[in-house]
Amino acid sequence: MALSGLDIYKLLPKTNCRECGFVTCLAFAMQLAKKAVSIEKCPYLSPESKEVLEESGQPPIKLISLGTGEKKMDLGNETVMFRHEEKFRNPAAIGFIIDDSLTDEETGKKVGEINKLAFERVGQKLDVNLIALRQNSTKENFIKVLKKILSSTDLGIALMTKDTPTLEEALLLSKDRKPLVYDLSGKHQECAKLCSKFQASMVVSGDSLEAIGKLTKEINSLGVTELVLDIGKKPLKDKLWDITQIRRMALKKSNRSFGYPVLVNAENVDPYKEAAEAATFISKYASIVLLSGHKTWEILSLLTLRQNIYTDPQKPLQIEPGLYPIGECNEKSDCLITTNFSLSYYTVLGEVEASKIPTYILSVDTEGMSVLTAWAAEKFTPSKISESINKFGVKDKVRLNRVIIPGYVAVLSGDLEEQAGLKVVVGPKEAAGIPSFLKNL
Ligand code: SF4
Repeated sequence: MALSGLDIYKLLPKTNCRECGFVTCLAFAMQLAKKAVSIEKCPYLSPESKEVLEESGQPPIKLISLGTGEKKMDLGNETVMFRHEEKFRNPAAIGFIIDDSLTDEETGKKVGEINKLAFERVGQKLDVNLIALRQNSTKENFIKVLKKILSSTDLGIALMTKDTPTLEEALLLSKDRKPLVYDLSGKHQECAKLCSKFQASMVVSGDSLEAIGKLTKEINSLGVTELVLDIGKKPLKDKLWDITQIRRMALKKSNRSFGYPVLVNAENVDPYKEAAEAATFISKYASIVLLSGHKTWEILSLLTLRQNIYTDPQKPLQIEPGLYPIGECNEKSDCLITTNFSLSYYTVLGEVEASKIPTYILSVDTEGMSVLTAWAAEKFTPSKISESINKFGVKDKVRLNRVIIPGYVAVLSGDLEEQAGLKVVVGPKEAAGIPSFLKNL
């Protein structure tokens, strides 16, 4: 449980020796409570106090890492029930179940299609995270398909094996990929031994929360501490109940048995139901969502949802303010003005590109707010816009002596003309109107 500054102070030597860099032990305690300093700064902590402080400093939901290199994914380390309380930290990994009954050619084709599931949206790269290979047949088949997957993708790997010899050989092959072990045999003790040996993370499954809680303790005692909880197969509403209770127990009751990332298998033959279930658990509170489908419409919508959920609500996605030439601009090119909220900028950008008319976009620093929000908050005012016009040398580059403002803030045009010394043209309200607007200008 997180300790308050005063709780921490009670554990300190209270000598005010200043060796930690703070004038008093109390000042140091306050910074420790905010996690702004490390306990190592105080050399006089008793071993007992150190243990209590280290324990209290652990995140309520353990941080687990899977995969390596560019495909490394951090899971867990969440601290809040609701996104608006602070933010959700580590985006849910999206993975695809592949059965070992596929032929070499089928595996290569499927993995190739999954590799292509990468998109760019509002300046960020969105991509998928792992492949879960599920054993349905023999060890030989499983290993053959695993080899094909390892040679065809850099994505993370989950090993859904049904027997220990297969798991051991699979771990030998994939240990460098930092795989997730998802044992289907029910022999969790044998599985835990292998996970401990190969330093792999392990999925803990159970039909009830009691069963999961009991099992995490048992597996911890076998030396495996990187766990992922699986709430099993049950109706969606029961899964939602369980995953919410797990989050509550970890965050509100400081119950360490439930302080791990959670995996949801949303696999469904009906792709619409699968997408709906995956969307539910990306929103609340899965750290891994497994799917069987990999159609672009399904994945792009899930990745977009994930991007929105995991954006810090206090820090909107924003781009660097500035004057951006889109296409081969010259002095006869027009200049559209918008804010530096990523979604506003990239929406305008998309429409300018669609128009095929080289045009400048002036992105005004509104601290990442959209046009109307920034206008209401007085961050998109005639003085701020004219400041940007001067700062980014619009008049030197745009010799038409005019700028275009969004239709929703037509009210700014008079004052802006006066302050910027430029003609102000009121553009369309919606970005979709930009191509025809530019053509008719
Ligand atoms: Fe107090 Fe430790 Fe800092 Fe000294 S080093 S002031 S004992 S917290």
